[in-house]
Amino acid sequence: MCHAAIIGNGIAGITAARRLRALRPDWRISVISGESRYHYSRPALMYIFMGHMRYADTKPFEDRVWADERIELVRDWVTEIDVAASRLRLHAGGTLAYDKLLIATGSQSNRFGWPGQDLRRVQGLYDLIDLHTLTENMRDTRRSVIVGGGLIGVELAEMLHSRGVHVTMLIRETDYWRNVLPAEESAMVSRLIRHEGFDLRLETRLAEILDDGTGAAWAVVTDRGERIEAQLVGLTVGVSPNIDLVRDTAIKAGRGVLVDESLRTNVDNIWAAGDCAEIVRPHVERNLLQQVWYTGKAQGRVAGEAMAGVETRYEPGIWYNSAKFLDLEYQTYGDVRPNPRDGERHLWWEHADGRKGVRLVCDSAGVFIGLNTMGVRYRHEVCEGWIRDRRSIDDVVAQLPQANFDSEFSRRYESEIAATMREQTR
Ligand SMILES: Cc1cc2nc3c(=O)[nH]c(=O)nc-3n(C[C@H](O)[C@H](O)[C@H](O)COP(=O)(O)OP(=O)(O)OC[C@H]3O[C@@H](n4cnc5c(N)ncnc54)[C@H](O)[C@@H]3O)c2cc1C
Repeated sequence: MCHAAIIGNGIAGITAARRLRALRPDWRISVISGESRYHYSRPALMYIFMGHMRYADTKPFEDRVWADERIELVRDWVTEIDVAASRLRLHAGGTLAYDKLLIATGSQSNRFGWPGQDLRRVQGLYDLIDLHTLTENMRDTRRSVIVGGGLIGVELAEMLHSRGVHVTMLIRETDYWRNVLPAEESAMVSRLIRHEGFDLRLETRLAEILDDGTGAAWAVVTDRGERIEAQLVGLTVGVSPNIDLVRDTAIKAGRGVLVDESLRTNVDNIWAAGDCAEIVRPHVERNLLQQVWYTGKAQGRVAGEAMAGVETRYEPGIWYNSAKFLDLEYQTYGDVRPNPRDGERHLWWEHADGRKGVRLVCDSAGVFIGLNTMGVRYRHEVCEGWIRDRRSIDDVVAQLPQANFDSEFSRRYESEIAATMREQTR
C-alpha cells in the first residue's frame, strides 16, 4: 500500500490530506505536526488570547473526522528528511518511511540578528507555542514594545492593549505598513493606532534589546538613541518560509521550497505547498511565494491531487486579502501597489470621518486592475469579476454600488464616491 506522509497540519497540509483521501481510498495517509494534534485556524490566535473564542471552536473539523477518514495524526516534530531512503526522523525517536511526501511546514517569524533578540520575554506571534509563551510573559508585563508593522504587529498590539499593557510600536517606514499600503490607507491606519492609545514611533528602528541581568528583556534602545522600558518585546517583522528541514538535503530551496506548477520539488516523490513553497513558473521571471490562508488551501488541494497522480496545476488567480486593523476592516483585490507605477492611475475617496476609504486602480489604458477598501466591505465575486473581465475604470465607477454589502452605505455615499472618482478620471 502506498504511504503518503505530510509534514504540517496547517491549512495546506490538511487540505492535501483530505483531497488525497477522497482520490485514493486505499492509501495510507499520515500527517505529522509538532504544534498541535488537530488542525486549527491560525488567524484565530488573537481571538483565543482575548477570550473571544475557545480553542476548541477554532478547529474547523470534529476530532472524529480523522479516524473516519483514516488519516493518521502523529504529534511530533520531524527532525530530518532522509531523501535517499524516503524516511523521516522524528524528535521523539523512531522513523517513518514514506512513498510520497508533502512538505507543508508553513512560515517562521523573522529575526534580524538584533543584540538581545534571544532574551526571555522577546517573542514573535506565529503559533500556539508563542501564544503560550505570551500568556506566561504577561505576568510581569506593564509596558511592551512591538517592532515592525504589518498585520501581525497590530494584532499583537491589540492583544496586549486588551490586558492593559502599554504598547509602543517601532515602525521603520514613514507610516504604518507603507511598504504595502498606499499613503492614504497607511495614514488612516497610523491615525487609528494612535487614537487607540498606542505610542506609534515612525521611522524608528530597533537597535538593541537590554538584559535586566537575569537574561530577560527590560528595555529597548532605538536607532535614535532613545531607551524605552519594555518587559515584553514583540518581534513582528514579517515571516519567511520555514525551510529548515530541506537545508542540506537534495531538495532545492530558494526563499521557499522550490516547486513547479504541480507543486512537485526537484525530487520525484516530494511536493511542497502553502507558506513554505516557492513556485517556479515557466516564462514568469518572479517566483510565487504566497503566505495567506486561502492560497494555502488552494495549494493544498493541488498538492493532494498531484500526489494522487492526477494531472493538475496551481493557478494563482486574482490576488485577494482581507484583514482587520483594530476595528478597521481592510480588503485588497488585484494589483494595488503602494505607489502608482508609470501610467497607472489611483483614484481615492475618503469619508470625512477618516475611517472609510475606497481606492480604484487602472492601468495606462484605463483598464481596472485592482482596489482597496478601508472600513467598507465589498463583494468578492463582483470585484474579482471586474478585474477578470478587464472592465474599464468608467464602468467600475458607474457600477460601484453593486459591490457594496451595505445597502444603507451605498444609498448614503455611493454618489459621493462616484463623483469623487469621476473627477479624478478627467
Ligand atoms: C497571527 C497570524 C494571523 C494571521 N491572520 C491571517 C488572516 O487573517 N488571513 C490570512 O489569509 N492569513 C492569515 N495568516 C497567515 C496564515 O495563517 C498562513 O498563511 C497559513 O496558516 C499557512 O498555512 P500552511 O498550512 O502553509 O502553514 P502553517 O499554518 O504554518 O502550518 C504548518 C504546520 O507545520 C508544523 N511544522 C513545521 N515544521 C515542522 C516539523 N519539522 N515537524 C512537524 N511539524 C512541523 C507547524 O508547527 C505548523 O503547525 C495569519 C498568520 C498569523 C501567524
